[in-house]
Amino acid sequence: MTRQPLLIGNWKMHTSLDDALALAQGTAAIADEVRPSVDVGVCPPFPWIVSIAQKVRGTSLLIGAQDLSADSDGSFTGDVSASMLAPWCQFVLVGHSERRTVHQESDEVVTRKVRAAREHGLGVVLCVGETAAARAAGRAESTVSGQLESALIDVSSDDAATMTIAYEPVWAIGSGTAATVEEIQAMSGTIRRWLTSRHGLVADGIRILYGGSVSQHNVRELFDAADVDGALVGGASLDRGTFRALVEAAIGSR
Ligand code: PEP
Repeated sequence: MTRQPLLIGNWKMHTSLDDALALAQGTAAIADEVRPSVDVGVCPPFPWIVSIAQKVRGTSLLIGAQDLSADSDGSFTGDVSASMLAPWCQFVLVGHSERRTVHQESDEVVTRKVRAAREHGLGVVLCVGETAAARAAGRAESTVSGQLESALIDVSSDDAATMTIAYEPVWAIGSGTAATVEEIQAMSGTIRRWLTSRHGLVADGIRILYGGSVSQHNVRELFDAADVDGALVGGASLDRGTFRALVEAAIGSR
């Protein structure tokens, strides 16, 4: 099955409103140029989402949130619910390692967030990945399989078909050292086999992204990995020219 490449820029806690609007407009122009060959999305900081969604309406750029609350509403100071995001976003990142580590999000919370997003029709980009210590101890694959097992425990095959998995080794995020293409393919293959064991043929259509220090220098070989369908990009998505180079590398890669 042919899977359409997908590139997502995760802007984290960067940009001013003016910077974000300009970057979104520039990225939307790229998304329009490369459609229908490649899907392009961005995850701006929460306060900019509405302005950006209004600005790029009618373009091909997909808007995502970087996180969401596991709860639907109530006294949760600082949190943002799926129903607040759904009018403006097509998808949401769930389980990013910065949420799992800095905010101590447990597998159980990640499971509830996946459920909350699905209940409101938001596409889920589920982030999984092992720490350097887990890899050194030979537990990279069991860590990732355990994260999938927990997060997708009650997800039907119909719902799984709409989801994306982002493999992001924690040690590669923001470190300047990406995983090798062999490591990325090995883990993406493990993820695809896990998905197949649960959801059969549906797994063939589920996109698997790689994230972790993706740059202009390593992006081409990334697409050599048979099970990799795109990238989740942090730092390199903040510069329009650099992000364009990453998107261009995806064209014709499938
Ligand atoms: C990320 O935040 O998901 C990420 C992969 O960051 P970077 O590309 O900066 O390593």
